[in-house]
Amino acid sequence: MNAFTESQIAALSGFVPSDRFTTGQSSRDLHRHDISAHDGVLPAGVIWPIDGDEVARILAYTYENDIPVTPWGAGTSTEGNPVPAVGGLVMDLTRMDRIIGIRPEDLQADVQPGVLRKTLNREAGQHGLFFPPDPGADATIGGMIANNASGVRTIKYGATRDYIRRLTVVLPDGKTIHTGCRAAKSSSGYDLTRLFVGSEGTLGVVTEATVKLTGRPNHHLAATVTFKDLAAASEATAVLMGAGLEPAALELLPVPLIRLMNRENGLGIPEAPSLFCEFHGISKDALMETAELAKELCEDRGATGFRSGVEAAERQELWRARHEAWETIHRAHPGEKSLIVDAAVPISRYPEMIRFSQDLVDAAGAAGYVFGHAGDGNLHVVMVGDPADETGWAALERINHRIVERAIQVGGTCTGEHGVGIGKRKFMELEHGGGLDLMRSIKDLIDPKGLMNPGKIFPDREGAN
Ligand SMILES: Cc1cc2nc3c(=O)[nH]c(=O)nc-3n(C[C@H](O)[C@H](O)[C@H](O)COP(=O)(O)OP(=O)(O)OC[C@H]3O[C@@H](n4cnc5c(N)ncnc54)[C@H](O)[C@@H]3O)c2cc1C
Repeated sequence: MNAFTESQIAALSGFVPSDRFTTGQSSRDLHRHDISAHDGVLPAGVIWPIDGDEVARILAYTYENDIPVTPWGAGTSTEGNPVPAVGGLVMDLTRMDRIIGIRPEDLQADVQPGVLRKTLNREAGQHGLFFPPDPGADATIGGMIANNASGVRTIKYGATRDYIRRLTVVLPDGKTIHTGCRAAKSSSGYDLTRLFVGSEGTLGVVTEATVKLTGRPNHHLAATVTFKDLAAASEATAVLMGAGLEPAALELLPVPLIRLMNRENGLGIPEAPSLFCEFHGISKDALMETAELAKELCEDRGATGFRSGVEAAERQELWRARHEAWETIHRAHPGEKSLIVDAAVPISRYPEMIRFSQDLVDAAGAAGYVFGHAGDGNLHVVMVGDPADETGWAALERINHRIVERAIQVGGTCTGEHGVGIGKRKFMELEHGGGLDLMRSIKDLIDPKGLMNPGKIFPDREGAN
């Protein structure tokens, strides 16, 4: 659906002031792509509600009139998650960006979905608190909830799912419901909050969230550890985790990526397969002891260098460079698109997955960077190429397929954090089997007309490609 009728335009224009609904080409184009290579279908229009009542009125109308709706946060997804797959209306939530309140005594904040993660952390920081889930991008809280985003600190602090207490959701037909509560625990009925977290906007629009905050750590210690190869580095991660050191981040980085990061950011770090680690603690002394033990354990696993006590500014620079890995790769391959593997496996299987993935990339001669959130077994392979080059792109797709199949075989998942979107639908049957039928039944129950973010999560009946 690329165009609205006159009467649809008149109705949608009636829900918001004129500067918050458009059928203009540039806004529609801007809402057709996230950062992936998935090409969306041009939406017929874009609307920017500012509160839950507006969302409810708009969805009641779109439901009644069979108009597909795709919610949109910051558009930083990697699998086409917010990309309209059949056109219709894009509901951009970025103007619902109010922090309704921070309640430090409860360690909670109430937010609208368009609040950006960094903005929330700036405000929460004034109370000595923070919201730990941190995808590299400055995503919206609504987009993070919908994708169950996580990031480098997940091994210590958990994913977005672990920080959502209560949601207000407008269902596809415009009805508003609340899920969960503000208590720290509840055994009251089905956990609807968890159903909506990770549902990628396919079950409704989140219009308010109560999120848990946590105390900002007093002391940080960063370390970079080098190894002779990536497999040795990945083997050390399970040891560090098993020793109870509770790293706050444990990232695996390959030489080609470190080389790019050094070139762009002047980091001056050794160009060897590495682990970037961070530890949080209550005192410097406790952290020094942790670093000593980490060093011993890494050396036992063949570490060739261990550098800790990185200064605050350098530490921030290191993490900034890590967060910008995707952009850095793209600047090194101008004009190309990326295909991102986001499989996750039990950490005991991480080293073999790293070896397997690197071998596939090398054998195909592909431009691919194997790295990841090693501490939680989350593997990223960013492969770059030109989707218009059918043979070349198919080769990257084959690598993606083989890695995901292997990850599922060893008890893992096709996506550790980026969500299914369009790109990972083809793996859902393999990963979930009969569980996928139940997911479909839930979707059909809540959205019988299939109007909320259609074309996502579920393979087409005849099989997604
Ligand atoms: C450089 C880079 C690094 C990244 N690193 C990570 C990482 O380490 N970990 C990670 O998890 N992700 C990562 N991502 C992916 C992305 O940032 C996250 O998935 C993020 O949560 C997306 O949020 P967004 O606000 O951009 O949402 P969008 O991309 O706009 O939307 C995401 C999904 O949420 C839905 N949605 C948006 N708002 C709502 C709402 N209010 N109600 C219902 N549904 C809604 C959309 O329909 C879509 O399905 C990275 C992205 C980039 C560009």
